[in-house]
Amino acid sequence: MVLVKLTINGKEVEVQEGTSILKAAEQAGVDIPRLCYDDSLEPVGACRLCIVEVKGARNLVPSCVTAVSPGMVVETESPKVIKSRRMTLDLLLSNHPLECLTCDKNGDCRLQDYAYLYDVKHSSFEGEKNNYTIDDSNPYIIRDMNKCILCGKCVRTCAQVKERQVINFANRGFNTKIAPAMDTLLAESACVSCARCLVVCPVGALTYKNLAGKGRTYEIKKEQVTCFFCDAGCQFDLNYKGDNVIGVTARAPGEGRPLCLKGRLGMELLYSDHPQPPMLKKDDKFVEVSWAEALGLESVLDKLMEQEKK
Ligand code: SF4
Ligand code: SF4
Ligand code: SF4
Repeated sequence: MVLVKLTINGKEVEVQEGTSILKAAEQAGVDIPRLCYDDSLEPVGACRLCIVEVKGARNLVPSCVTAVSPGMVVETESPKVIKSRRMTLDLLLSNHPLECLTCDKNGDCRLQDYAYLYDVKHSSFEGEKNNYTIDDSNPYIIRDMNKCILCGKCVRTCAQVKERQVINFANRGFNTKIAPAMDTLLAESACVSCARCLVVCPVGALTYKNLAGKGRTYEIKKEQVTCFFCDAGCQFDLNYKGDNVIGVTARAPGEGRPLCLKGRLGMELLYSDHPQPPMLKKDDKFVEVSWAEALGLESVLDKLMEQEKK
């Protein structure tokens, strides 16, 4: 293993060759802001928030896609870096509704966190804002593309499971947005409601319908459970408000885990205090179904009934 020595914010760090500056900083206990980066995804260096100053480099560099080199001297919070991050946030807020008061992501939103950290209260740019209709066609997911910051994490996450790849970037320039093929409603697409994209979305663009308005993020305590329906062993969170489980959410889509709807519904039935009736797609339309059908247990139950009759 070849080790590389560099300096980050005046502190000497030694990391493995090929490590990104962002990960090297993490090892040194320095947190670099990021919106499009996730440990479970290939870094793309798109959001420009993780930029840092490297001594001798002509421009600021995106730390998630820049590898360390011997003797590198990095500053992660220099005046130049802060100015650039403030400009990036300013531009993002120029086309973002300032609805934090009622947004279900309030308290768990990276854009909000960084706007606070860098004291960007509103945008200095005036101009048109997107005004997309909120897509709540899917019984489990709300998509508000007005809040989307086009980080692409949902697209890359959905595509991790080959047969899905449901959403992608559509249109260009100001009209760029994330959409299913042919820009249909989510309910009309091939989406399997796994919620992997919700786990990684850093803002309030993708949220759980069953949790809407049920509690602020800071009122909710989470407890991890592991699904036992198949060998994948996906992890879910029970969301407690007080003593009640108000809903189950998916977590950590890494390692290619499917985080399937069946697993999440199963956890809902087992743990939620008031599980909502399950909905499955039939003839391209979502309809309410029995729990046995939702969990794929109908044939098992039929068999049991037959045995009991004998
Ligand atoms: S997505 Fe974040 S910044 Fe936008 S309204 Fe919601 S909490 Fe506020
Ligand atoms: S819920 Fe799952 S299948 Fe649907 S868009 Fe999100 S990641 Fe893709
Ligand atoms: S919906 Fe969320 S995860 Fe997807 S691009 Fe927009 S902000 Fe990023």
